[in-house]
Amino acid sequence: MTHHSDKKLGQATHVNGSPASSDRNSLTVGSNGPIVLHDHHLVDTLAHFNREKTVERQPHAKGSGAFGVFETTHDVSAYTKAALFQQGVQTEMLARFSTVAGEQGSPDTWRDVRGFSLKFYTTEGNYDLVGNNTPVFFVRDPMKFPHFIRSQKRLPDSGLRDNHMQWDFWTTHPETAHQVTYLMGPRGLPKSWRHMNGYGSHTYMWVNAKGERFWVKYHFHSCQGEENYSNAEATEMSGKDADSHRRDLFEAIQRGDYPSWLLSVQIMPYEEARSYRFNPFDLTKTWSHKDYPLIPVGRMTLNRNPENFFAQIEQAAFSPSNLVPGIGLSPDKMLLGRVFAYPDAQRRRIGTNFHQLPVNQPKVPTNTYLFDGNMNYQHSGNQPTYLSDTAGRPYADHTGPIEDGWESDGDLVRQAYSLYPEDDDFGQAGTLLREVFNDEERTQFVETIVGAIQGVRSPVLERVFEYWKNVDQEVGQRIEEAYQKSPRAVK
Ligand code: NDP
Repeated sequence: MTHHSDKKLGQATHVNGSPASSDRNSLTVGSNGPIVLHDHHLVDTLAHFNREKTVERQPHAKGSGAFGVFETTHDVSAYTKAALFQQGVQTEMLARFSTVAGEQGSPDTWRDVRGFSLKFYTTEGNYDLVGNNTPVFFVRDPMKFPHFIRSQKRLPDSGLRDNHMQWDFWTTHPETAHQVTYLMGPRGLPKSWRHMNGYGSHTYMWVNAKGERFWVKYHFHSCQGEENYSNAEATEMSGKDADSHRRDLFEAIQRGDYPSWLLSVQIMPYEEARSYRFNPFDLTKTWSHKDYPLIPVGRMTLNRNPENFFAQIEQAAFSPSNLVPGIGLSPDKMLLGRVFAYPDAQRRRIGTNFHQLPVNQPKVPTNTYLFDGNMNYQHSGNQPTYLSDTAGRPYADHTGPIEDGWESDGDLVRQAYSLYPEDDDFGQAGTLLREVFNDEERTQFVETIVGAIQGVRSPVLERVFEYWKNVDQEVGQRIEEAYQKSPRAVK
C-alpha cells in the first residue's frame, strides 16, 4: 500500500504483498480445533494491532486539524525577507488545534487553553508557528513547565483532576495571573476552533533583506468572529458531543465553508526592546496595541480535510525549531526551552525519523548529516557520512555572528528575568479584567472562579482570594463573598 490515499486497493495482501488468504478466519486444526502459530497473518494482525497507537502528546493530546493555504496579501518586506511573507506568495500549510490538559478522549469543550499549531511548507523549508488561542502563557521559565502541566492533570492516587492542585500551583506562581484571567474569562470556552483567534504568543525575530532585525508578535484573527460558550452551554456540549470541535471543523470543510483567519503582526524595532515599559520577551505579557499597532500580513484558509487522521494529524510534528531564513527566535526563555522539548517529544512519540513522514517532510530537498535510526526511510545512498573536503558532499560552514542573533553577556546565573519599569505579575491581568471585560463578563468571571475553586482547601483557598485581590481588589472581594455564599463552600 502506498502512503497516499489509494481508492483502488485491489486484492487484500499480507504485509509482504502476497495475496492474503483470509481476513475473517484464522487457521485452525479442523473447524473447532486450536489455532496454529504459523498463521502469520493472524500473528501480524494481532501484533500490529497492539502497536497501532502512538504515544499521545503530553500535553495537547486531544486535537485535530486540516490543510490549507496562507496568502501574503500585504507588503511586509521591510521587516522580513522570509519567502512565505512576500506579497502575493501562497504557501500550502497544515493547522492543528487542541486542548491542553485533556487526554485523547476528553471533551473539546472543557475550559482550557487551545493549541493553535501551524506548519507552512515553504520554498525555503518548513516553518512552524506553534501558538495558542491566547496571547500569553502561565509561566516564563521552562523549568516550571512540567510542574505546571502535572498540576493541571491528575492526582497520583485517584487519577482524578483536582481544583486544589491547580490553584495550589497558580497561587504559588503569581506570574500565572494574566493567563488565568484570560482563561477564566469569556474566551476560555470557544464555541469552535473556527471561532477563536490564534497567537504566536512568544516574541520572535524578523530579519529583512538588508539584515535589519525586528521583534515580532503574531496575531491571527478569526474571520468567523470570536464566539464562545457560556459555562452551561459548554457543560451540556461536553456530554452531548465530546468531539464537537473536531466535528465542526471537519464538517465545515466538507461542505465547502472554509474557515479563514487574518494574520497581523506587531513589530518592535530591535533597539526598543531595551527600553519598553514591559519586558518584551516575557511570555506572561502582551505588547499593548497602543504601543505597537497591528500591521496586516495575510490570510490563512483551511480548505482540505485529512484523508487519514492518524497519518496526517496524529503523526504531525510541530516545533518552534522549524525556522526559515528571515525568521528567528528571541531571548524568551520559554521559547528557547520549547526549541529543545518539541522535537524531542516527537522523537520519543513517533520515532527518530519522524521528520521523514509525508506530513512532516519539507517540500524542498534536504541534505542533512543525520543518519540511520529506527524507521529510516530516506537515505543518501553511498554519500559520505562525515564532513569531507574531498568527497564532494556539500556541508555548511558559517563562522562568526549569525543574522538572527542577539547580544548578551553576564555571569551564568539561575534567576528570574530582570524587571522592566512596569513589570509585575498582576498589572496586565488587572487591565484585562477592568478595561477589556465588560460588567456582564466580570460578573460571569466571578461565577466561573467560584465554580472552579470548589474543593480547594486551606491554605490554598485563602491564597486564591489574595491572588484575585492582587489582580483587582474589588473583584477579589466579590469572589470571596460569592464563594462564602456558594452551597458547597468548605467552611
Ligand atoms: P487594547 O484595548 O488595544 O486591546 C485589548 C484586546 O483585548 C483586544 O484588542 C482584543 O484582542 C482583546 N480582547 C477583547 N475582548 C477580550 C476578552 N473578552 N478576553 C480576552 N481578550 C479580549 O489594549 P492593549 O493592547 O493595551 O491590551 C490591554 C489588555 O488586553 C492586555 O493587558 C491583555 O490582557 C489584553 N489583550 C491584549 C492583546 C495584545 O496583544 N495587546 C491581545 C489580547 C488581549 P484581539 O484583537 O487579539 O482579539
